[in-house]
Amino acid sequence: MSAQTEGRRLEGKVALITGGARGIGETAARLFVKHGAKVLIADIQDELGHSVCQELQTPDRVNYVHCDVTSESDVQHAVDLAVSLYGKLDIMFNNAGICGSSNTIFDSNNETFKKVMEVVAFGGYLGAKHAARVMVPAKKGCILFTASSVTECFGFGMHEYVMAKCAIVGFAKNLAVELGQYGIRVNCISPFAVATPLMTERFGLTKEKADEVIGSSATLKETALEPEDIAQTALYLASDESKYVSGINLVVDGGYGLTNPTFPMAIKSILF
Ligand code: NAD
Repeated sequence: MSAQTEGRRLEGKVALITGGARGIGETAARLFVKHGAKVLIADIQDELGHSVCQELQTPDRVNYVHCDVTSESDVQHAVDLAVSLYGKLDIMFNNAGICGSSNTIFDSNNETFKKVMEVVAFGGYLGAKHAARVMVPAKKGCILFTASSVTECFGFGMHEYVMAKCAIVGFAKNLAVELGQYGIRVNCISPFAVATPLMTERFGLTKEKADEVIGSSATLKETALEPEDIAQTALYLASDESKYVSGINLVVDGGYGLTNPTFPMAIKSILF
């Protein structure tokens, strides 16, 4: 290892990141490049995607492709492009996602329900299927999904979102068993709420206000969950440091899912 590459945890690896134009995916793309990976960003927000690449100013190591994860031909093309640009695919980070709109079962909208399932669940399936197509012959690879802490702690996520993210976690575990024989690892990352555009746009909040709301409900205080923390988790799961880790759903929620604060809150509101 040369002095230049020392400390680079993805040196020589090739990654495809869906939903990489902004938010968690963009942060992961920047971090992966910093750690020596060659990255293909796949998204539907072309202007944003291209601007991330331009900013990074390493055209030999980061590129953008338009890819709607619900379109099989787009996903197939993105995987093939990663291989033709960089010679292989080591890391498939299925991160693209949208949230739903339902507050209750009665106000859930069928079309929104189908759309969330299509982007999150079907899109994740297509990404994994085409990544496996090139990883199986190579007998190595890492498939990652961004799920959500709603897969471990229930009652606060929108129904369509919870359903789609739980589908992904089940699929990832099933796939980890199938693809283990080819040396391919499959894992999920499940973040608690992070103030990315997905969240601020959904609730019409500024980033500062979103951070305040998230912070006030968080179990872990004196810190805040940032996209960088999720990107660092992805870096670990994508690197050889986690070479025997497969089939897990790594929850990054600062302990939020461990407790239900409503009883102590009710007591406090009565007593104090
Ligand atoms: P974001 O909205 O900032 O980024 C999502 C990206 O996905 C966008 O660039 C968007 O253009 C892209 N995308 C959406 N539909 C797509 C499609 N059909 N094809 C390709 N790309 C598409 O949101 P984020 O918070 O960075 O979300 C990233 C992932 O993290 C999502 O899967 C989300 O569900 C998950 N997540 C987010 C939070 C949170 O609170 N922000 C919490 C848990 C999980």
